[in-house]
Amino acid sequence: MKLMKKKLRLMVVIMSVMMISLIVYGAVSLGASGNRWFSSSVNTALRKVKSDVIPGRIYDRDNVPIAFNNDQGERLYHPDELTRRSLAHAVGTKSGLVKNGAETFFSYLLYAYDAGYFTRLSAALTGNLRHGHNLRLSLSSRLSRYVIDHFPSDKSGAVVVMNYRTGEVLVLSSFPNFDPNNQKGVASDPKKPYINNATQWRSAPGSTFKVITLAAAIKNIPDALNHTYTCNGALEVGDITITDAGMASHGEITLQKALTVSCNIAFAQLALELGDEKLRETAQAFGLDDHILFSDLVVENSIYPKRNRTAREIAWTGPGQSALAVTPLQMCMVAAAIANDGEMMEPKLLLQAVDNSRVGKAQMSANVYKTPLTKPEADLLTQAMREVVKSGTGRRAAVPGLPIAGKTGSSQIDGQEKTNAWFIGFIDDKTLPYAVCVVVNDAGEGSRQAAPIAAKIFEFLNQNR
Ligand SMILES: [Zn+2]
Repeated sequence: MKLMKKKLRLMVVIMSVMMISLIVYGAVSLGASGNRWFSSSVNTALRKVKSDVIPGRIYDRDNVPIAFNNDQGERLYHPDELTRRSLAHAVGTKSGLVKNGAETFFSYLLYAYDAGYFTRLSAALTGNLRHGHNLRLSLSSRLSRYVIDHFPSDKSGAVVVMNYRTGEVLVLSSFPNFDPNNQKGVASDPKKPYINNATQWRSAPGSTFKVITLAAAIKNIPDALNHTYTCNGALEVGDITITDAGMASHGEITLQKALTVSCNIAFAQLALELGDEKLRETAQAFGLDDHILFSDLVVENSIYPKRNRTAREIAWTGPGQSALAVTPLQMCMVAAAIANDGEMMEPKLLLQAVDNSRVGKAQMSANVYKTPLTKPEADLLTQAMREVVKSGTGRRAAVPGLPIAGKTGSSQIDGQEKTNAWFIGFIDDKTLPYAVCVVVNDAGEGSRQAAPIAAKIFEFLNQNR
């Protein structure tokens, strides 16, 4: 009998542990991906709720209304067309044309899905529509509109601007864009202007990736920046020959100088010296290969290649080619982590949600997402990137009086005549803590096509501080 009791008690303990872990698992997974579930189109409860709720308004960080219902119940966006276009991908549309824009991703707030029983009952009895919660996003409608003025109108690409201390996203713009007040024909446009190139599009980042290769060197090679290589203008690895832009030949070159002038040959040699594992470790420390589940944004995972890691592919990874597949948002976060003493903040879009009586429903809190670098490592990379803008390929990103750090990239894409132009960088001043990523596709060199756009953005941020 005693034995029986003991066994029974053990069973109860085991069952309780199983129950508790199930509950905890459920709570954690709902917490992590609740937005995804609420915004999913298979959620029929939400579809029902949509018909008896007036969705909340969406404001930008300066309280400018950017999405709102008119008296006829139509959903409208900012009155200026270019401003609407600049925000179209981040804000999204009520129709869900943009996957995971704020309009759909935050629908559980916009439609006040958390309303209590009595609120719903009194609305049902009186026949009045309920009000959803109003959102204030971290986006700057003025800066987003300004970016449109400086991005070549015939090119595709993306621009991301983040506060590197808090993770607040000020600009998340994609090109080509569309007018959310007039969506006719957009869904069938072969250019797919509804795709968000900042978060849903991935590509080799070209030489902007050299900051990650250099980070791996700083972690693994003593006095890495003074480590020297020989650049003869061509490096044969397997069946390919790696060359430099403009068929340059740099001779004996330190890693610092190799970053400044963007020498592919030194970085290919460095990649071979470090080996695939060390490169991969550092890339993963910066968030590549993660299964990203941010609270405010849906982002494609960025990838460090796994298969076919031959010497030729490893060498080609050093200067940011091979099968690397990275989003512009991820590369902005890489620059932001270097700027922020090695701490990578989770990107945030929602500053605040309040209900119709101004009672708070959600509030932004800054989260460290990863810590890819120690402060001394981040300081070394910052100095190296400042030199790029001071005397190297990033000179066109310079703004007089501002301490700008950055790296250019020109990634080669099969089937394209010109390279994709990239620039990542930041203002090395914690009182003006902004990082950017600019990508202009099929445009040529990052130094000529992307860096000047970044300079314009830095200027704006300085003038509007
Ligand atoms: Zn070289």
